[in-house]
Amino acid sequence: MSRERVQAVLEALGVTGPGDGAGEPLQSIDPASGEAQGSVRALTRAQYDARVAAALRRFEEWRSRPAPKRGEVVRALGVLLREHKYALADLVSLESGKIRAEGVGEVQEMIDICDFAVGLSRQLHGLTIASERPRHRLMEQWHPLGAVGIVTAFNFPVAVWSWNASLAAVCGDVCLWKPSPLTPLCGAAVQALCDRVSEEHGAQGVFTLVPGGVEAGTWLCDDPRVPLVSFTGSIATGTTVAARVAARLGRTILELGGNNGVIVLDDADPDLAVRAITFGAVGTAGQRCTSTRRLFVQRGIACTLIDRIAAAYRSVRIGDPLEGGVLMGPLITRGAVDRYRGALAAAREQGGKVICGGRILERPGNFVEPALVLAPRHDAFPIAWEETFAPILYVFEVADLDEALRAHNAVTQGLSSAIFTDSMRSAEQFLSPAGSDCGIANVNAGTSGAEIGGAFGGEKETGGGRESGSDAWKAYMRRQTSTINWGRDLPLAQGITFGT
Ligand code: NAD
Repeated sequence: MSRERVQAVLEALGVTGPGDGAGEPLQSIDPASGEAQGSVRALTRAQYDARVAAALRRFEEWRSRPAPKRGEVVRALGVLLREHKYALADLVSLESGKIRAEGVGEVQEMIDICDFAVGLSRQLHGLTIASERPRHRLMEQWHPLGAVGIVTAFNFPVAVWSWNASLAAVCGDVCLWKPSPLTPLCGAAVQALCDRVSEEHGAQGVFTLVPGGVEAGTWLCDDPRVPLVSFTGSIATGTTVAARVAARLGRTILELGGNNGVIVLDDADPDLAVRAITFGAVGTAGQRCTSTRRLFVQRGIACTLIDRIAAAYRSVRIGDPLEGGVLMGPLITRGAVDRYRGALAAAREQGGKVICGGRILERPGNFVEPALVLAPRHDAFPIAWEETFAPILYVFEVADLDEALRAHNAVTQGLSSAIFTDSMRSAEQFLSPAGSDCGIANVNAGTSGAEIGGAFGGEKETGGGRESGSDAWKAYMRRQTSTINWGRDLPLAQGITFGT
């Protein structure tokens, strides 16, 4: 069944087989049934080297193609994504287990970032800076970097690639993408679309797929031909990646794990808070880097809010991600189910009380119930300090905003955060330098579901990288500072006189 469903979608997307890799097959397992549903062959080292060489040959030409012309290639990709939106979204659901609405949302994000990148292709710009010397111009320009390695996680199997690749492409770089081995078909499908666009625009080699597992990721990290590695994944893997790339003085963009908190104060609008928290904690079965994992709720509103969240949890339909009305699909693997079980056991041991959900469902696939856990003090509850990639929400009662902020900022991760309050003072305190220490801080909006227009990423162990909107494009380019002397003298900077 899984195989037939996937085959139909792959055909619609123009994927005809397991690819031309000569390495191990990367099996795609349907998380909703546990059945194998297709495979993609990994590359051998020799094939990898040949693909990097071909990409670099393209770079020689691509870097000098005017940026708006590069934008046309990305525009064509956006058009193709629009045409294949629902097929690709279904594939995302079938491989990653996220529900249809979220799969469609993920492909929409790809379309949006393509649009953004097309606009950007006419706006790449540098500064002109006042020179201290007469008849001199001091300026900054931005040049393409070269080959960008993009290593992605299973939970956003296509969108994260597009955040990187669409920007990198208009910036004049070529992209080498190693998708997660848990979602190899999504990688193959996006590459099939890229190949069509590249052929039509003479851009073969701008988007290159590197199917593989840890080994292929390591090749990219260690490859001096790849000046930038943009890595999305866990903190543990990111730590290895950062060290390997740094060992050759390469650059990284790190988008690592989060441990996202929501603060709800007594004066909050409970309707907004309940909806945002439920979507944030349960959406994508808690497998978003921005999933809500910790809730700090002020005493006065705690009982009401927790009751309402528990009621919302009980109404969540769990099941096949492509079935109408289903709000939560499966976890990605049996290993993820084990980690869910382990985290709940640790929570109970550390004094937590599971007040809603917490069971593993007796059916094929990796289905669990979203769990709501009443926790003791944050500093006495270490399980909440780590990211468990599953739908578990730890709830802490707090006296006031100061206590909430202290606990909120006490973890090592720093991706997304939110406060629900109608008090301008509290909202501003949350957004102030003494407030949330995360890369994303929202007021009366949840932790998950960022727009592509803003820069996306987090602080501390989340890695400090920024992708997507705002000026994130600068990470894909090299900055050059130039001084032009249009006079007939040679005045030195800092007023230095040298020699005669
Ligand atoms: P993961 O770290 O297991 O794998 C991520 C990628 O790294 C995969 O493609 C994997 O094959 C590759 N990889 C593994 N070992 C490698 C190595 N030594 N060198 C190079 N590459 C290697 O992560 P996952 O389980 O796929 O994804 C979940 C994690 O990703 C969570 O922690 C989540 O928070 C994080 N994530 C972060 C963001 C963000 O933007 N901050 C977005 C999505 C996911």
